Parts: sequence; C-alpha cells; structure tokens
Amino acid sequence: MKLRSKIHLYSSVLFTVLLLLANATVYTMFSSMMLERELNNLAAETRQSATALRQADHNAALVELLRAYVPLNGMLRWVPEGADGGGTLVTSASETDLSRQAAVYSSEQKQHRLNIAGKSYGFVSIPVIGGDGAVANVQATASLEELKELLRILRLVLISVSAAVLIPVLVSSVVLGKVLMRPISAMTRTMRQIARSGEFVKLKQQGRSRDELVEMGETFNEMIGLLEESFAKQEQFVSNASHELKTPLTIIESYASLLKRRGLDRPELFEESIEAIHSEAVRMKGMTEQLLLLATSRREWKVEREPLELLPFAEQTAEFFRSAYKRDVRVAALDLADVTVSTDQDMLKQILFILLDNARKYSSEMIQLEVGRVQNAGYIRVRDHGIGIPAEDLKQVFERFYRVDKARSRDQEPVGGAGLGLSLGRELAHAISAELVLESVPSIGTTATIVIPIQASAGRSQ
Ligand code: ADP
Repeated sequence: MKLRSKIHLYSSVLFTVLLLLANATVYTMFSSMMLERELNNLAAETRQSATALRQADHNAALVELLRAYVPLNGMLRWVPEGADGGGTLVTSASETDLSRQAAVYSSEQKQHRLNIAGKSYGFVSIPVIGGDGAVANVQATASLEELKELLRILRLVLISVSAAVLIPVLVSSVVLGKVLMRPISAMTRTMRQIARSGEFVKLKQQGRSRDELVEMGETFNEMIGLLEESFAKQEQFVSNASHELKTPLTIIESYASLLKRRGLDRPELFEESIEAIHSEAVRMKGMTEQLLLLATSRREWKVEREPLELLPFAEQTAEFFRSAYKRDVRVAALDLADVTVSTDQDMLKQILFILLDNARKYSSEMIQLEVGRVQNAGYIRVRDHGIGIPAEDLKQVFERFYRVDKARSRDQEPVGGAGLGLSLGRELAHAISAELVLESVPSIGTTATIVIPIQASAGRSQ
C-alpha cells in the first residue's frame, strides 16, 4: 500500500473510530441518566399519590383520588393484596389501552422500564397500608415516548455533527498525504533520474517554508553536491595520476627500446639510458608511494603519539639530509627551544622530509632548520633561499598535482616532483593535529612551518 493511502487510511479510520466512540458514550450516558430521572420523578409522584390514596375510605373516593393523581400519559392503579389482575384503576385519555394490562401485586417497591405494544413506559409500584389496615400497591405507569423522541433528536444531532466533522477530516487527510508525499515523490523521481542517467541532479526547492521536508530536500541537495564534488575530484585525481605515471613510463619505454635496438652496437648509449631509466623508476616509486598514502583514508592512518624532543629530532633529520644529499643544512634553536611535544614521530618525520626535499629541489644554497616554541605549541621551520613561490600560487600548492611552473621543476635534475608532496604533508599534519604554514617571496626564498601542539587534542587527530 502506498504511503499516501496509509496516511489517509490511518488518520481517517482512527478519527472515525474515536468520534464514534465519543458519540456512543455521550448517547448511552445521556439516555440512561434521562431514564433514571424519569423513573425517579414517577416514583416521587407515586409516593405523593399513595399518601392521599391511603386516606380513601370508600371506593368512590378512591376513584376520585386516582383520577386526580393519574399521570398525564399513563395509568394509576390501586392493587389490594390478593387482587392480582384486578384492582381499581384510572387511565389518561390517551392511554386507555393500558387498562388491559393485568396487575401483579408486589410486597416490595419496584421501578423499571416496560415495553407495551411497541411503546415505552416507566413503571413504579409502591406497597402501602390503607386506611382500613389492609395492604395494597399503588402502581403508576407513565409513557416514555417523550423521552424516546428526545433521544431520537439527540441521535440525529450526533450523527449529523459527526458527518459534518468527518467530511473535512477525510478531505484534509487526503491533502496531508499529498503535501507530505510531494517532496518525497520528487526525491524518488530525482534519484531514479540519477540512477538512469548517471548524472548528479539536484531537487528543485519550492516555497519558503522551513519545515522538515524542506530541510530533507536541502540535505539531499547538499549530499548530491558533495557526491558530485568528490566524484569530480576522484576523476581528476585518477586522470592526473595516470597522466603523471605515463610520462616516466614513456621515458623508460623509449630508453629501453633504444637499448634494444642499438645498445649492443653503441655502448656509450648504455650509461645514459640506464641512468634515465633508473631516475624515472625512482621518481615513479616515490610518486606511487605518495599516491598510495593519499588514497588510503585518513581514518586508516594509525597515529601513535609519544613525547618527542624537537631539537634532537631536527638535528638527527638534518644530519641524515646532509649525508644523503650533500647539502648544507643548519639547525638553529629559537624561543626556548628545548620543547617536547606529544606526537607521532614517523608522521612528523615524513612531513619534515617533504619540506626539506622541496627546499633542496627549489634552492641551491644553505637550508635552515629552526626549532622553537609559541604558547602551547612547538614548531619546526624549514627556511630556504631559493626561487620562492608567487603569491597567486601559494594557496594552490597544497592541491594534489599542483606545480607552480611545470617546466621549472621537471627539467631540473635531480627529478622534480609530481605536485603531491605538500598535499600529503598537510593531510599528515591534520592527522597529528599539527598545522602546516607556507610563506614565500619569489627569488628570496620559502619558509615552511609545522606547528605541533604540546598536548595533543584528541578531536582532530584520527
Ligand atoms: P613537488 O613534489 O612537485 O615538489 P609539492 O606538492 O611538494 O610537489 O609542491 C608543489 C609545488 O610548490 C612545487 O611543484 C613547487 O612549484 C612549489 N614549491 C613547493 N615548495 C617549494 C619551495 N620550497 N620553493 C619553491 N617552490 C616550492
């Protein structure tokens, strides 16, 4: 069953049942109260007439008194004990048929409703002691047709009021179903369209209301926006990655073919080819490692924090760099430099290597490593005096595969990067709750700073 029909069915059925229950309760309570009241009134009148009838000393006086006290639409009867079926009675003009009813003497007071020839009556019987000391009943029978008429009118009123209320309820439940279903159906249609065409489509939001359904539509649009963005990024990433891998592979392939064709005849080609193949292979290896790291979700990175003294750490890294690349790397301690931070040493080393590697690639003079402390954080700064980065490129260098000037790094030897280093560095920094800041002036040099909180906050890291 469709949701719209369910809403319609449940709301209208529930309301109808509640309305019927309420009406039935009102009707039953009212009718029983009214009947009770009628019988009590009749009993009071009967008691009054009994007081007078007890005084009657002969039959004529009795008949006179009965006539005086007979109910408007009914019968009043004096039934002496042992005179069942008989007694003395007087009926009102409209109820003469009642005289055919047989009298039954009862030693107790009785009061109930009677049905005679399809009509409703109230009946009251009161035992009394007559003036002569004999026991008798005063029995009154009074028509309840007026009460029946009143109840009939009440029934009519309740039924017509219920009908008058139910019609708008049924209409509004249909309208409610439609209003609720409109955005849901629109969303389903859009999802089907997306599934069929493979294109990201957003919902058209109508109206200015701020209800939950509009919020749901907005959330859906936000989600589609995010999916579209991440899909585009992924496409871009894959195309950039394959493009970047294609270049070294082409170089390797062409040198390998050259060796195959002429390698044996021209040994001087051998060294150049092997050198080129080796350096391209090294570059490809570095790039695939970075790509792999970037492709794994940050949640999969295991951050293992431990206390780390920044100054010895920086000196150790500088020493490694000096001997590996034969570059002048100097360490300087600034602002209370004996700072200890809580961090993942391997990840911090990776970031520092990326920064030192850039300083090495894009400068030729001495590289400076500064260690210091600001408020609740320690920092390591890599300062070079190289070509620098133009201001308009400074923000973009953190994007994957972004290189300031593709020609300048590529043609340089040793190999230029693929534009992945800084973006990986920033992701790693986020993982250890650190910050990576880059400042640069073209032709003067670049300063890259890693700011590491002394007490790691649990929030951002994993
Ligand atoms: P790459 O592996 O190409 O160096 P990065 O992401 O590390 O990639 O850097 C992106 C670009 O930013 C580099 O291609 C380079 O143009 C520029 N860059 C990064 N660091 C420096 C630096 N220290 N000096 C000058 N340019 C830099």
